[in-house]
Amino acid sequence: MNAVESRLEHIRGRVAPKSHNARTIAALTSNPGCARRAIMDAAGVDKQRLAAYSGFPAPFGQSQFAITRGNAFEAQVKANGCAELLRLLREHLGLSIPEVSYDDLNDVGGNTGLVVRHVRTRSLLARAVNSGSDAGTLFDHPLLRLQVAGRPVFLEPDLIAFQLGGRFHVVEIKSFAVIDGQADGDKVAAAVIQSAVYVHALRELLAGHGMAEDAVADEVVLVCPENFSNAPTAALLDVRKQLTVLRRQLARLASIESLLDVLPADLTFDLGMDDDGVPSRSPAELRDAIFTVDARYAPECLASCEMCFLCRHEAQGRTETLGREVRDELGAIDSIAAVLGLADGTLAPADDQAEAAGLLRAAARLRRECTGEAA
Ligand code: SF4
Repeated sequence: MNAVESRLEHIRGRVAPKSHNARTIAALTSNPGCARRAIMDAAGVDKQRLAAYSGFPAPFGQSQFAITRGNAFEAQVKANGCAELLRLLREHLGLSIPEVSYDDLNDVGGNTGLVVRHVRTRSLLARAVNSGSDAGTLFDHPLLRLQVAGRPVFLEPDLIAFQLGGRFHVVEIKSFAVIDGQADGDKVAAAVIQSAVYVHALRELLAGHGMAEDAVADEVVLVCPENFSNAPTAALLDVRKQLTVLRRQLARLASIESLLDVLPADLTFDLGMDDDGVPSRSPAELRDAIFTVDARYAPECLASCEMCFLCRHEAQGRTETLGREVRDELGAIDSIAAVLGLADGTLAPADDQAEAAGLLRAAARLRRECTGEAA
């Protein structure tokens, strides 16, 4: 174990690490300036548990019912060598698939180790690329790897990579329903972002075998239940826009080493479990440890990060609670009290606040004129 891994393990404490997945990477890249989330995700911290023990639980994650329904639907689509999926690819998407082989990468001869599965994934994908065959190949749960903040992370994808004539297509199976041709927009948007993460990871893997980017299609196949039945339907979704954003945001993530450099060497989010598995560390002590790492709260965190209520509490009274746009517009003024003081003239601006103060006073004057308020 190298020094970075050992520090991350100390930060996580005596619990098994949580793995990254496409959802966590998509959420991380939606706020690339947040060191707190970057450190926690790199260390594999269970953020939901940590948020709950520090006094700010957030309702994240799928219900047991949704997980069971999702697993059952996925099993149905993949049953009998993916017979249902092949029917969809042929009928709905017009893919001519003369013959198909199926490789299950959930384990390698019973070994479910991540490294073993990743090596097997690489080797099977390379073989498919180099075979030059027109036959299709389905790869169930290929284990991909991606560099995130300078560190490799494994992706446990819930997908099938489908190769036909040397070109790969990512297939994403989701259990939310498509009713009368329409699905929940937020759920589709989340599925598109997650699929973009897989497309990117698959391209990175194939680049190692000298394959060009277009060896992985820009369009992913989304499979969902149709109407109120469990019958699957499929649609092609273009992920080019999400790929561009993802690549830009991944490039903006600071390296974990540089983030660790400015943190105390003894920092840990360990809950201090006693022999009965009950956390013995006080919530206040945990919060102090969490606040050691800089956050970059924005209202969007409420939809994407388990630490959101704690970070929102910490950011109370600061301009970031009003949204990224407002915070950026106000530049050097970071407290709402200062904004109000500068707007009504009760606070004298510092040199770097003069321009923003002028705009705030003008806005306050306009507001008074509109509402008829006295100055
Ligand atoms: S909720 Fe907190 S830790 Fe999570 S991304 Fe937002 S600021 Fe960062």
